[in-house]
Amino acid sequence: MSIFDKALQTTFPGAVPSDEYLATVRTTIEDLGYTRERTLPLVSICRDELTTDFFAAIQEIWGPAFTLAGLGGVPALGRTGWDAAFSHIPNDNGRGAVLVLGFPHIGIEDDGAIGVTLRPGQTTPTSTCGALSSIQQRASDGTLPTEVDVEDYEATKLALRLVDPDKPPSSLVDLTIAALEALELDLWSALDAARVWHDHDVTVWCGVQIHGHGGRDWIWPRDAWFTGGDGERRRVRHS
Ligand SMILES: [Zn+2]
Repeated sequence: MSIFDKALQTTFPGAVPSDEYLATVRTTIEDLGYTRERTLPLVSICRDELTTDFFAAIQEIWGPAFTLAGLGGVPALGRTGWDAAFSHIPNDNGRGAVLVLGFPHIGIEDDGAIGVTLRPGQTTPTSTCGALSSIQQRASDGTLPTEVDVEDYEATKLALRLVDPDKPPSSLVDLTIAALEALELDLWSALDAARVWHDHDVTVWCGVQIHGHGGRDWIWPRDAWFTGGDGERRRVRHS
């Protein structure tokens, strides 16, 4: 086993290549009646250019997607953005459907270093996720923001959302998991507040996206849910 594979499987046991993951999502939700025609994909991933191949792969299968997130992958669109997203769900043929995908991300380099990526055209690795790394650094330096800075809106809001200054995260991996948990809560609170499932089928898939060297991506799957017209949230068994 390579140093990379060992780091990947130790840190995120059960991670699968992202194309394999998306194939699983597809076969699983097609069994629930999802088709491209009646589905709007809503995607909550970081704005980092490393995530764009995954975003493109989602759109390849499900069509144009609405972007929910800013830095760190946690939804940053606000009430107005949610209202817009939910108003775009196909409805010309009965119930529409939303496929919500939420993934904070992290890099693992070939030497097993966690939290960095050597990007094309660069000579030294840089942080992945840069926003979460910066928050982690500020937490350990004791320089976390105490309020939202409108000139640094996404990062300061994210720091306030994710970190209790009295209990700083012990590692970037822990902070990434905290981002995943926050993201999943925020997705469901928006979906439930708008009762989206009343008129549309809802499925939510969350985990962590891991970038290996040279553009290879993995997904560490954590949760998959489906809610139909009765509003009851059920775990989806992956096929
Ligand atoms: Zn990022």
